[in-house]
Amino acid sequence: MLHALSVSKKPGNTFVLSNPNDILKALVGLKDVRILHLERNGPHVELVVEREIGVAACASCGQRARVKDRSRVSYVDLPVYGSPMSLTWRKHRLRCVNGACPQTTWIFEDHRIAAKGCLLPTRAAKWATVQVGQGRTVLEVARELACDWHTVNDAVATYGAALLAADRKRLNQTTAIGLDETNFVKHGAHTHSSYATTVADVQNHQIIDILPTRQFVDVAKWIDEQPVAWKERIHYGALDMSLTYASVYTVMLPGAAQVVDPFHVVALANRCLDAVRRRVQVEQLGHRGRRDDPLYRIRRVLLMGEDKFDERGSQRLQPLGAR
Ligand SMILES: [Zn+2]
Repeated sequence: MLHALSVSKKPGNTFVLSNPNDILKALVGLKDVRILHLERNGPHVELVVEREIGVAACASCGQRARVKDRSRVSYVDLPVYGSPMSLTWRKHRLRCVNGACPQTTWIFEDHRIAAKGCLLPTRAAKWATVQVGQGRTVLEVARELACDWHTVNDAVATYGAALLAADRKRLNQTTAIGLDETNFVKHGAHTHSSYATTVADVQNHQIIDILPTRQFVDVAKWIDEQPVAWKERIHYGALDMSLTYASVYTVMLPGAAQVVDPFHVVALANRCLDAVRRRVQVEQLGHRGRRDDPLYRIRRVLLMGEDKFDERGSQRLQPLGAR
C-alpha cells in the first residue's frame, strides 16, 4: 500500500542547473512555491518559502482578495546533508475587499507544502509514513528528524489513514476472512488492557484492517460498511473460539461457514480440562493442588498430545482410568 508514495520516474527527464536559485528551487520541487532564503545557524538549517498566489479571489463572493499578513509557520523538514532542517512557510492570510462579505479573512492553504494541522511538511510526512510502514519505530524516525514523538506519530496516522482509505485493493477478491483479537496495549495494574481486532484475508495471507476494539457492535459495523459484492463473496469466516466473533459472522455474514483453527479448539479443551481438574481436586481433598497430590502431579500429562505420549505418561494416567 505504501508504494503509492514512490515517485514515478519518467525516462529522459534529466536536466542540468547552474544557477544557485534554480538549484534550490529544484530541491523544493513544487510549482508556484518561491524560496525566500536559506539560513544556517550552527548545525541547523532553515529554509523559508512562500506560495505564489497570483490574483486571489474570495471563495464566498468572488471579489478580489488582498494579503493581510504572512505569518511564519515552522515545520520539521527532512535533514539536509545530515543536518536537521526546518521549513518555514510564510503563510498568506487573505482578506476580502468586500466589506459586506461574511468571509472576512482566511489562510491560503497548500497541502503540497503541508497538510492542515500537520507539523511535518508533506514530503517529510510521506517519508516518515513509508519508514514506519516498513517497520521502523516512530521513536527512531523522530530521532532522525530531531523532533518530538507525537509530531511523527500524528503525521503517520494522518497519512496512513489516507493511504488505507485510498487502497481498496487490499480488500482483494478474497472468499475467506479471519477475525482475531490481539491484546494491543497493556495498561498499568489498575486499568484495563486494550484489545484490537485484526481482520485478515486468510486466503491471500494479508491484513485487511486493524480495529481498535473487540466489541460486537464495532466489528459488525466494520463488516456492514464493506461493499455488498465483497460481503457476498465471503464463504468462510475464520475465528478463535470467541463468541463475539461467532455472533458477528452469524449476523453479518450468515452465508459464511465458520472455521476454527485446531489450535484454538485444543487450547479451549485444555482450559476446560484444567478447570475440571482443579474443581475435582478441591472437592476431594478440600484444598488446592499441592506438590504430592496425585491430580496435581499429572496436571501436565493431562494436557499432553497423544502423539507426545510415552510409556511413562500412560502409566501415570492409569490410576485416573481405574477410578
Ligand atoms: Zn468576499
